[in-house]
Amino acid sequence: MPNDPAPAQDLRRGLPSVERLLASPRLQEAVADHGRALATEVAREVLADARAGIVAGGRLPEAGELACEAARRLAALGRGTLYPVINATGVIIHTNLGRAPLSAAARRAIESVAAGYSNLEYDLTAGERGSRYIHAERLLCRLTGSEGALVVNNNAGALFLALSALAQGREVVISRGQLVEIGGGFRIPDVLRQSGARLVEVGTTNRTHIADYRAAANSQTALLLRVHYSNFRQLGFTADVPLAEMVALGHSLGVPVLDDLGSGSLLDTTLYGLAPEPMVQQSVAAGADLVTFSGDKLLGGPQAGLIVGREELVAQLRHHPLARALRVGKDALAALQATLLHYLHGEAEQEVPVWRMISLPLESLSARATAWANALRDRDIPASVVQAHSTIGGGSLPGEVLPTCALALAHPSPDALTAALRTGLPPVVARILADQVILDPRTVPPEADATLIDAVTAAWRATG
Ligand SMILES: *Cc1c(COP(=O)(O)O)cnc(C)c1O
Repeated sequence: MPNDPAPAQDLRRGLPSVERLLASPRLQEAVADHGRALATEVAREVLADARAGIVAGGRLPEAGELACEAARRLAALGRGTLYPVINATGVIIHTNLGRAPLSAAARRAIESVAAGYSNLEYDLTAGERGSRYIHAERLLCRLTGSEGALVVNNNAGALFLALSALAQGREVVISRGQLVEIGGGFRIPDVLRQSGARLVEVGTTNRTHIADYRAAANSQTALLLRVHYSNFRQLGFTADVPLAEMVALGHSLGVPVLDDLGSGSLLDTTLYGLAPEPMVQQSVAAGADLVTFSGDKLLGGPQAGLIVGREELVAQLRHHPLARALRVGKDALAALQATLLHYLHGEAEQEVPVWRMISLPLESLSARATAWANALRDRDIPASVVQAHSTIGGGSLPGEVLPTCALALAHPSPDALTAALRTGLPPVVARILADQVILDPRTVPPEADATLIDAVTAAWRATG
């Protein structure tokens, strides 16, 4: 009779008191590390769970087990839930893994403004209140050729702000082919509705012509909107309206054109053997009135939403009440400024990690994968090197791949090995391809090589 209260009560009497549990030798280090107050709380929780387990028909845990469990919970609490992982997937802009790693200069810039005070909103010459909006914005104007620029929290926010400020209660014309879902449930038609703008769909899924936009425009039209396809691609019988034609129409009607580039790029992706990704400077040159893009996709900087374009429109966005709700923090602004300076100095390919990873030569990837395989074979772990493909990710350049050389591990249970890699410390995220566990050196910083070998060894032995 597992639920008979009498024997359960007897068993529960066998549990130690909170004080005795805390005094257990196995818990001493954890108590010292995390403090007595937190340790007491956790000890109470462990004992409560043990009591509940007994009532549910479980056995009486040993004192040592209880101490280990309390120590484990304290360690987990102390680690928090957000920590670094090794990205061995070969997906360079991995949204689930924090998108773009920052350059050394960007990391130093964050440290320098985080450690003390800064002139975030202070005009040092005048000795009075200044604007946080000047910092990265002059650089953005110079790099993109735009008149005005504004930085907000992320690109979704940038788009929402632009639609709210310029089109609330009025109509926004967009091609049916561009009503995309970007990921994480972010759908362009939903954002449009939320902003209070009325969505006017034109064209068809695969083909939209300039005449479709012209026919839809009327006195209620606030914006012509173009949205980058982001994470998918249209092939076959398709037709898109070039931005310059939308701009010509918009200007003849007196209606601004908003170009949401998603990732956007300041560098020419075709120079790296990739398909062309629209460049921000090209959209500005083509006459788009506003262009929005992300700080942490191909730009390779911190999470931010970047808006460039006509100063008159940017000023409307800057003064809209939502701008405050979407404002960017000093750490992101510092990192963005440092990232943009790499572009200004023509050193983005060497300094910005996303571009460094894109431009890694196959020989260096092959050398690293071979060194990993040799190190693991020395530890009796069967490892080989295979040809594979890295991807850009982050909703940019769908279907585009970069040839790479990767480490391949033939394990009886690839799922068990990837799970052990993910739950190790540090966690390693890998892929399974043709029943092998694949680790791509492209997205692993060389300074993590030794850590990675140890992590793979531990995961292999834990699952062997
Ligand atoms: C990624 C993306 C967004 C959202 O950008 P976040 O910086 O993630 O908010 C918006 N539009 C397009 C086309 C995108 O690809």
